[in-house]
Amino acid sequence: MITVEEARALLYDLVSPLPAETVKLADAAGRVLAQDVVATRDQPPFAASSMDGYALKSTEVELHAMFKVIGESVAGKRFEGSVGPGQAVRIFTGAPIPEGADFVVIQEDTERRGDLITISDLPGVKTNIRPAGVDFSTGTKIHAPRRLRAEDIALMAAMNVARIPVARKPVVALISTGDELVMPGETPGPDQIIASNTFGLKALLEDAGAQVRILPIARDTVSSLETAFGLAEGADLVVTIGGASVGDYDLVSDVSTGLGMEQSFYKIRMRPGKPLMAGRLGRSAMVGLPGNPVSAMVCGYLFLLPMVRRMLGIEQVLPPLQTARLTEPLGKNGPREHYMRAVRDESGIRACGDQDSSLLSVLAEANALLVRAPHDPDRSVGEEVQYLPI
Ligand code: AMP
Ligand code: MG
Repeated sequence: MITVEEARALLYDLVSPLPAETVKLADAAGRVLAQDVVATRDQPPFAASSMDGYALKSTEVELHAMFKVIGESVAGKRFEGSVGPGQAVRIFTGAPIPEGADFVVIQEDTERRGDLITISDLPGVKTNIRPAGVDFSTGTKIHAPRRLRAEDIALMAAMNVARIPVARKPVVALISTGDELVMPGETPGPDQIIASNTFGLKALLEDAGAQVRILPIARDTVSSLETAFGLAEGADLVVTIGGASVGDYDLVSDVSTGLGMEQSFYKIRMRPGKPLMAGRLGRSAMVGLPGNPVSAMVCGYLFLLPMVRRMLGIEQVLPPLQTARLTEPLGKNGPREHYMRAVRDESGIRACGDQDSSLLSVLAEANALLVRAPHDPDRSVGEEVQYLPI
């Protein structure tokens, strides 16, 4: 059996960064920038006022000084003339500073009568002028790769970049397997349960930027599984869930091998999620996840998310582990690396009581996977441990 690290390295080899495509700015949120984007203009494109007030010469600013107002500069329409000695131009936020002026006295510091103003409160040294290009200038870059946030979208809009090169979304096909499963919303028979894994994994992987298709549930027969693999054709990553152990009804390995899957590995020295298999199936990477709901989700975090991120061209495929102090003791670990559902809060971290890999309610309560090395000894309250936030 291989380690989690070794498995991850082998899984990376099954996928590669996907080509870029162009999307409209309005559709680019959450996508991963594939090429640097370059500003084609300066912002602001002219020296602009940051306040409502009067533009005039800084050398003339003193208490009780009087100026004649000779015009207006508003956002979208500048004052065309020039400001001379003893003159001021009424100006509003975002409007171009007129020629000859280098200072804006805010209107609260003035008194106006007709077309005359007096400085009634001495302004500070702040000019209230935004220099041209202070935000960004022609040639300013946003560097790829980068997951585009709302803030990036706003910045690119201001840069007048309307079409955005992004990595194509990895297409992931999810296949639940098992005679006992029905879809959420259906009425289960007396011995049936609801397929949950595909839905949790879809949410997880779409959040990371994948395009996920949930295929019809495959029954525990060769032909049903073959049909499901057929429907998955063309996906970048095909994920089966369940049927991966050594029970009589665990057919995923046999069927995928029969379809030409070149196996990369089978089984990882970890808890939960030991019976994980992976390989190459035609043009797709294939991962066979264990069926237990918690195992499937933990493997989603540890293996599928990094694969998706790699296809998107993201450099850091796994967030760094964090550390926290135990608020409850831990017994010693067995021979496999253990990813324990845990709750992290301001007081520290504690592992959830029952780590049975079928308990989704415990997973939903957890916000961390506490990582234990093989044979990690007993740990007491206050000791530092590592965890992956989820
Ligand atoms: P298996 O690996 O097929 O033996 O599945 C292990 C356990 O996980 C069994 O109790 C299955 O009923 C359960 N299971 C398998 N697939 C799913 C799924 N998609 N959603 C929820 N439970 C599942
Ligand atoms: Mg099964």
